Amino acid sequence: MSLSEFELIHKYFSRIDYCDDADAIGLGVGDDCALLTVPGDQQLAISIDTLVEGVHFPDADMAFDIAKRSVAVTLSDLAAMGAEPKAFTLALTMPGSNRVWLQGFSRGLREAADEYGIALIGGDTTKGPLTISIQVHGFVPEGAAIQRSNASLGDRIVVSGYLGDARAALDLFDETLKLQHPKERYIKERFYRPQARIALGQQLRGLASSAIDVSDGLLADLGHLAKASSLTAQFDPSLLPLSPVLSNHWGAETARGYALTGGDDYELCFTVPEAREHELVQLSEQLGIPLTVIGKMVERFEHDCIDSQGQPFDGEQTGFQHFS
Ligand code: ADP
Ligand code: MG
Repeated sequence: MSLSEFELIHKYFSRIDYCDDADAIGLGVGDDCALLTVPGDQQLAISIDTLVEGVHFPDADMAFDIAKRSVAVTLSDLAAMGAEPKAFTLALTMPGSNRVWLQGFSRGLREAADEYGIALIGGDTTKGPLTISIQVHGFVPEGAAIQRSNASLGDRIVVSGYLGDARAALDLFDETLKLQHPKERYIKERFYRPQARIALGQQLRGLASSAIDVSDGLLADLGHLAKASSLTAQFDPSLLPLSPVLSNHWGAETARGYALTGGDDYELCFTVPEAREHELVQLSEQLGIPLTVIGKMVERFEHDCIDSQGQPFDGEQTGFQHFS
């Protein structure tokens, strides 16, 4: 027996509420709109991401992982702005109401909501090719959001965590390249279980002059930051933070290429005034996240990113684009 739309919403998408800020959520799932109460000294930070089967994940099999990943990649934008997530809405288009799939998907949403302390406050459910849109809502103190356009000359360029792992996971999904890989699990988890760097983003308020999350590849995203700040980003590719698994099993050259242009890592790339660079050591220790200085912002040049010799990177790689 198939579920009606309302039974489905009630069973799988109600009561996913892990926001401990009772004042923030005025009204959740069930009415025509959800209501959020934004404190007077805060701004509402909003971002939306859409994930399409075959484009953003290989197939629909792993409902639990797809749900977790969808929430994390969307929250990554709030992290980059220094916002504190409170709630999310979900527009779900799917070919049918497969209970096993919905159960896995709902469980993944619940786990992600619990991990980040957010509430599912509404959405829309329609029939069609599997497509997941998630909108997230967070609060940030008025004027404190970290924008990508605010880097200054001489600021140090910093990257969190490791880059390139998620790109390596794509090699493992492709059967022809399937490696008998002892660390397959680590690499695949880096694709399916990205961490939105929420705590880091909030700690960067008042420290970072600008920030962006690395979703389309470092060259592309740091390029956006440089352009928005009317500067050029100069960095040494040999300083890019690589996980031991990536550099040991894919080799240094491939690993560096993946770190430069591979997307989906959802680390933060940000700039810090030179005089405050030393504060990164303690922050890294406190959060247990590597923070690596890879270069500095220099006068605007014809390229968005250049290497230590002042040369542009090969082929002006620009990362993933849907309509190119
Ligand atoms: P309306 O017809 O008024 O737009 P719907 O019938 O689409 O409302 O949805 C009924 C309620 O269920 C609304 O509160 C809506 O936000 C919520 N809802 C619908 N789909 C989802 C979903 N996938 N996840 C969470 N809430 C949902
Ligand atoms: Mg309505």
